[in-house]
Amino acid sequence: IPQINLFGMTIHALDMPESISTILDWCRTPRERRCQYVVTPNVDHTVMYQTNAALRASYADASLILADGAPVIWASRLLGRALPERVAGSDLAPALFKRANADAEQNQPPLRVYLLGAAPGVAERAAENVIARWPHVEIVGTLSPPLGFEKDPAENDKIFATVAAAQPDLLILGLGAPKQELWIHAHAAELQAKVALCVGATIDFLAG
Ligand code: UDP
Repeated sequence: IPQINLFGMTIHALDMPESISTILDWCRTPRERRCQYVVTPNVDHTVMYQTNAALRASYADASLILADGAPVIWASRLLGRALPERVAGSDLAPALFKRANADAEQNQPPLRVYLLGAAPGVAERAAENVIARWPHVEIVGTLSPPLGFEKDPAENDKIFATVAAAQPDLLILGLGAPKQELWIHAHAAELQAKVALCVGATIDFLAG
């Protein structure tokens, strides 16, 4: 995968269609060593990255690092290492559903998706909207965990086990940064999901 270095960070130089194809390929091949995950840095995240070692460790294991946020694209141009375009997490999820839905009409198996994050009730509402809009996308579970769940080992284990049991092709992980990046980094080796997208408030957007 082509990549550039920006602010000390690796960023992959894929446009939206290439990002979608890459991610759907991973969703359709058997899971190997771990859940592959995608992060979508915006300017806030690039600032956090400089001082947060745990976030850097998570990025080091990410399969795909895509630039969310126009200023990141502008910076890449100014520095002479232009990224093709912005690939925002909040655009990526619906674009993946759209492509997967069209592919299912051509006899591809449905994409199995889990929504984890956002405030109570929001992930369920997002699921209803996804199914209404892209009927061949299968929502295999939704969970909006209580605030601070990741600091309570018993609660965290329960949530991890619930998601893992659903064995999604694609986990939409909307816990905000850096929480979502640290959570997936801690659990990718064991989590029975093929791909996870760390995409901030995307579940809120899907809920409308
Ligand atoms: N959120 C969550 N659990 C938390 C903190 C946040 O599910 O402990 C959700 C919140 O409801 C919202 C998203 O994470 O849906 C945060 O989105 P934001 O745009 O702030 O994320 P960022 O762009 O900072 O990654």
